[in-house]
Amino acid sequence: MAQVYDRVALIGLGLIASSMFWAIKRAGLAGEVTGFARSAETRATARDIGLCDRVCDSAAEAAEGADLVVLCVPVGAMGAVAAEIAPVLKPGATVSDVGSVKKAVIEAVGPHIPDGVHFIPAHPLAGTEHSGPRSGFAELFDNRWCILVPEGADAAATSRLRALWEGMGSNVEEMDAEHHDLVLAVTSHTPHLIAYTMVGVADDLRRVTDSEVIKYSAAGFRDFTRIAASDPTMWRDVFLTNKEATLEILGRFTEELFALQRAIRTGDGDHLHAYFTRTRAIRRGIIEAGQDTDAPNFGRTPAKKG
Ligand code: NAP
Repeated sequence: MAQVYDRVALIGLGLIASSMFWAIKRAGLAGEVTGFARSAETRATARDIGLCDRVCDSAAEAAEGADLVVLCVPVGAMGAVAAEIAPVLKPGATVSDVGSVKKAVIEAVGPHIPDGVHFIPAHPLAGTEHSGPRSGFAELFDNRWCILVPEGADAAATSRLRALWEGMGSNVEEMDAEHHDLVLAVTSHTPHLIAYTMVGVADDLRRVTDSEVIKYSAAGFRDFTRIAASDPTMWRDVFLTNKEATLEILGRFTEELFALQRAIRTGDGDHLHAYFTRTRAIRRGIIEAGQDTDAPNFGRTPAKKG
């Protein structure tokens, strides 16, 4: 794979940034990758494990002279980081991010981007419940979607960012920010909230049943606990910044839940059976699209490119 950028800067060195670094190196997509993390501890870990060609002691130092700067911090921290790097951005450079919410990131980051610098938000739909600089791996983005939100950005700069994500293994799609936030509220944000709630409910029950919830934990609950182990800061920021879309989907979820509750109370087996048949078809569709696992898809052919 050909080099896409001379210099890439990763600001924040957690799961997503460390996976990006290993994926960039795997395919030789950048000449040099600089990195910065807020804590001295994370920077020391990054230096220890060879994460980034150069780990810098400030975000501005990492971003200076970079052709692409990617903000890989929690959504609530993006604006402050953008303000810090703005004065050193190279004319013609691209600033992007990997935040799970797009409208709020555009509002927070956009005003800091100087004239002559491209701003192209992005969101890789890939992750695990792990976080931090040691959690990344090169295959995280293989056969996963990455959504770009160019909203009128320069076409050549957008194609270049697309080439980077494709080089890291992703299938790339473009969307507007509002649509992105609604789609993600359905497919990721609200399911996470439901998992957090279910594990919270089970935790209350655990006190009543003396550890039986853990001891006899079956697949359904285990899956919820994996999702509910996701980083609390990241998810707090997701719900605070994608408020409108999440509340909209939660409202619909509550209506459906009440309908199922009534079907159970009234013994309406037909309703339950029809509902579960419909949802089973959705699961089949996900499997057919090759999006059925969080594990890396070693050796899989992407379902769709571009
Ligand atoms: P992570 O593993 O928790 O790493 C976050 C990084 O951001 C760390 O280097 C941390 O620095 C830094 N950071 C945290 N708070 C900060 C602040 N207030 N100011 C400056 N830096 C700060 O997180 P991640 O999973 O890589 O997530 C990063 C971004 O990717 C988030 O915006 C998230 O929404 C998005 N995303 C996540 C996933 C996922 O599944 N995890 C998937 C797609 C997109 P220290 O280590 O020094 O504390």
